[in-house]
Amino acid sequence: MEKVAPHLRLASRAIIANVWLLEDSMHRKFLIDTGYVLERPILRLSLWQAGVRRPGDLTAILLTHRHADHASNAEWLREIYDCPVICHAADAPFLEGKAKAAPMVPGAAAPHDKFFCQFEDHFPPRVKVDDVYKEGRWKWNFKVLPVPGHTEGSVMLFHKPTKTLFSGDALLTGIPPIRSFEWLQLAMPSYSIDFETCRGHVREHLQAIPEPKFVCAGHGPPVTENLRKKLKSLGKC
Ligand SMILES: [Zn+2]
Repeated sequence: MEKVAPHLRLASRAIIANVWLLEDSMHRKFLIDTGYVLERPILRLSLWQAGVRRPGDLTAILLTHRHADHASNAEWLREIYDCPVICHAADAPFLEGKAKAAPMVPGAAAPHDKFFCQFEDHFPPRVKVDDVYKEGRWKWNFKVLPVPGHTEGSVMLFHKPTKTLFSGDALLTGIPPIRSFEWLQLAMPSYSIDFETCRGHVREHLQAIPEPKFVCAGHGPPVTENLRKKLKSLGKC
C-alpha cells in the first residue's frame, strides 16, 4: 500500500490500473475504481493493511467508468464490504448487463492495446449499481465532472477539501500499462468511444475547478507538483 498523502493511498500496486483509497476528515473511506480481476489478492491485502477489513469499513466504491480494468472487482468488493457501488447513470446499464457496449476499435494501436480492447469486448465487468452520480456538487464533498466520450458515462471526481482530482482514463498520468514514469495525456483514441468530445470536457472542467493538489489517474503515478503548468500544456493537445 503506497501512501501518497495522509488522506490518500494507492490501494493496488499491480501494473495495469490504479485503485485509489481516499479517507476524508470524518474517517470515511472511499475506493475509487477497483482494478482487474487478477489484482484481487494484492488489493485485498492492501485494503487490510489500510484498515479496510470487514463490512462497513468502506463508505462507497466510486467508479470513474465502466471499463474492465476499473470495474472488474466492484461486485466482489461490494459483497465483501457491504458498501454501495456508484457510477454515472449512462454507464450503469452496461455494468448491470442491460445494454451491450459497441466493440472497441483499437485501429492501428500497439499489440498490447489490441489485447486489452479484445479483453474488454469479451469480458465486460458486471456489477449491481446501487446509486448514480448527481453531476456537479455532490455528497461527501465530491464534485462530479462528467467527461462523456471515453465511455458513455465517464466522469472525473474532484474531492474539494483535499483538492484531489480522480481523473480515470479521461486524463492519464502515464502510458498504460506502464506507470513508472509521469506523462500527462488526455483520453486515448484506441480506448475511447469519442476521444475528442472527452478531451473537450476535460479541458472545460480543468478551467473551472481550483488547481488540484493531487491528480490521481486510472493509469500512471500520482501527480503532485507544478500542476498548473502541466495541465495548461494539455490545453494545446
Ligand atoms: Zn477506460
